[in-house]
Amino acid sequence: MKELQGLLQELEPHHTTLVAVSKTHPPEKIMELYNAGQRDFGENRVQEMIEKYEQMPKDIRWHLIGHLQTNKAKYVTSWVHLIHSIDSFKVLKEINKRAKNDERTVDCLLQFKVAEEDTKYGFEPEEAYEMLRSEQFQNLKNIRINGVMGMATFTDDMEQVRREFKQLRNIFQHLKDNFFADQDSFRELSMGMSGDYRIALEEGSTMVRVGSLLFGERAYG
Ligand SMILES: *Cc1c(COP(=O)(O)O)cnc(C)c1O
Repeated sequence: MKELQGLLQELEPHHTTLVAVSKTHPPEKIMELYNAGQRDFGENRVQEMIEKYEQMPKDIRWHLIGHLQTNKAKYVTSWVHLIHSIDSFKVLKEINKRAKNDERTVDCLLQFKVAEEDTKYGFEPEEAYEMLRSEQFQNLKNIRINGVMGMATFTDDMEQVRREFKQLRNIFQHLKDNFFADQDSFRELSMGMSGDYRIALEEGSTMVRVGSLLFGERAYG
């Protein structure tokens, strides 16, 4: 696992967590990284994540990084490690309700739309501020917001990618200062993938989500 060790060495000085994005890859391939010590894995489809969770060692920390449909929240709240992809108040309320049943607090990140492409899910900043100010949000006791997540535009223009990461970091800082100043656990800035993680590290990423660099190209997904 040459790629894994090299990547971990690059992340180390930044104290950045590696989420190995294993979507589309079978358990045997994931086990190669597991046996090399990797424990944080990311999946973007709920069904696929559930199947892997059931088959694989229970000390894996599963990160959901793709859009979560409200009606699927109940399948993951009892064991998911971190949901990076909270993109609506509605899904957050549903997670809270299910987590309460499970007598658990589920850690979440708010996903923001910083890319130009309009296919990407995520909050607009104003929309999130409004949610965070609401009394209804204050009453959600079984979720905890630990930070933000975003994806840059898929482009060769690395200056654009950098601008978008800076934008995400500014949103993170604004939320920290205005809503989470007294919450130490609000500290995650999930940004950076195989093609742009180096820029993300320079811009302050605390969690990179890297797939193809570790597992090779995907056939789909
Ligand atoms: C697939 C995916 C990644 C990883 O992408 P790579 O380019 O393979 O590193 C990261 N984040 C999200 C949300 C993804 O869906």
